[in-house]
Amino acid sequence: MAYQALYRVWRPQTFSDVIGQDVITQTLRNAVASHMTSHAYLFSGPRGTGKTSCAKILAKAVNCLNPHDGEPCNECEICKAANENRLNDVIEIDAASNNGVEEIRDIRDKVKYAPTEAKFKVYIIDEVHMLSQGAFNALLKTLEEPPANVMFILATTEPQKIPATIISRTQSFNFRRISRQDILKRMTFILDDKKIKYDEEGLNIIAASAEGGMRDALSILDQALSYGDDELTLKNAQEVTGALSNEQIVSYMTAIADDKPAEALTSLYQILASGRSALRFTEMIIRVCRNLILYNSNSDLSNQMDKSVMTDELLAIANKFDNNRLFYIVDQVSATQKNIKNSNQTDIYMEILTVKISEPQVAQQQTQPETTSANDSQVESVEFDKLRDEISHLQNEIKGLSTGVQKAEPAKPKTHRRANNNTRLNKTAIYKVLGSATKDDLNAAKDIWPDLMSMLSISQRAMMKVSDPVAASPAGVVVAFDYMMWFEQAQDDSEFLQELTDNAGRLLKKDCQIVLVPKKDWPTIRKEYIDNNIDSNKPTNVKSKEETKKTNPTVDEAVKLFGDDIVDVKDD
Ligand SMILES: [Zn+2]
Repeated sequence: MAYQALYRVWRPQTFSDVIGQDVITQTLRNAVASHMTSHAYLFSGPRGTGKTSCAKILAKAVNCLNPHDGEPCNECEICKAANENRLNDVIEIDAASNNGVEEIRDIRDKVKYAPTEAKFKVYIIDEVHMLSQGAFNALLKTLEEPPANVMFILATTEPQKIPATIISRTQSFNFRRISRQDILKRMTFILDDKKIKYDEEGLNIIAASAEGGMRDALSILDQALSYGDDELTLKNAQEVTGALSNEQIVSYMTAIADDKPAEALTSLYQILASGRSALRFTEMIIRVCRNLILYNSNSDLSNQMDKSVMTDELLAIANKFDNNRLFYIVDQVSATQKNIKNSNQTDIYMEILTVKISEPQVAQQQTQPETTSANDSQVESVEFDKLRDEISHLQNEIKGLSTGVQKAEPAKPKTHRRANNNTRLNKTAIYKVLGSATKDDLNAAKDIWPDLMSMLSISQRAMMKVSDPVAASPAGVVVAFDYMMWFEQAQDDSEFLQELTDNAGRLLKKDCQIVLVPKKDWPTIRKEYIDNNIDSNKPTNVKSKEETKKTNPTVDEAVKLFGDDIVDVKDD
């Protein structure tokens, strides 16, 4: 006999066999037992949660010759015929393949004829949301005037796509995801019955990756068993589910903890190259973060840690993260999951996520309230482009690292980087530029900027791509960097700064110093400068906004520096 898939062999044959949908199966049993079944049902819920199985059992139960408490006997002629798919009165239609109006019209014509063998003619329409509008209309006509002894069971994973007029004519049941415990229990039962040895952790991984679908769980189990010697091993379960090895997770999380985006990306590429699913990977990161948060919180909560996730290696890096950072990572990963589900640019989203969460300064930048005011999708797409550039730069860096051509970036411990942000900032030079800044000088700097960029090497250009001139005087230009990482790298490279200054001087035809600033610090520095220099002249009696613009020396100064169009006065 040909091999039969586990989920077929172990398909439930009675309501009580169905796992994890007790309320629904009890209701259906009662309806059958009391002959109070409806003429139309809608079964909705995620895939593999028992919708089709329940439909088949219901079709059998209403027709069974010896039903017992609403359950089919599975022994009478009708039950046997139904179980062998040869009962003509049970008609299964897959709307995903039969979505034409004609098929449903066919039902409308044939529905008039009485069942041939059984009491009820039962139509099971799977994936009913796939029906065309015309087919829905035809179906609605049938549901409006249902002939006696006909039952419709509509099954769908996407009930929101079904017209309300149809839904209102059905009795509706929502099938829930099956709990991991229930899936585990069922798999254990099957394996014990088949006398197959199994690794508990391997079984755990399969149950987790089935995402509440019993059919998926059994299909994965089937595959894992076909890998080797009729035994379920941890390794086979990992292979089949694309579960990450502990080593992969640890190397990725360590790079994140150490603020090393290039290493984190390398680790990401290895994970994706080994065939791991990006979505599963994001789920794993969230599980790991959840457990790290519990571990870092206190001893009570850490009892709730998932021991299968938290290996000794992960516990060893737990103190590298504080919980704020972990919450930030979880937020970013959740947002990425949404994007991944709606996109085929999975790898790009994963790269962007990786760079984001391995740079804590971006986290700080993003939690500042003023950055959230603009149009979200605009911000997202601008951010997307910038990160994309940053990633291509990092990719070059990785290539350089692996071929040994480029010299490795000096290691920058986290504390060192954080402590030094301020000391690297050259406020004196910035104030000097602001002291004689004009809008014209800024415009001139912006005009030559593209040419200046084209004079740089590719990697320098990648670094400067996330920077803009934000203020300029006749003798200097202040350049703001979106990312702390690039600001630091540029600031530390005196050779590069000199080259930049020389080229800018050549293009502007005058000596011109380039001063760098992280963009997140720019508003504060600008405000500090303006406050310090004009504080004593502040007007005490402010009337209208227009008046303020004209008379407020702070505003005058700001307009002088940055131009009328970008200065907007906000009342405190
Ligand atoms: Zn029967």
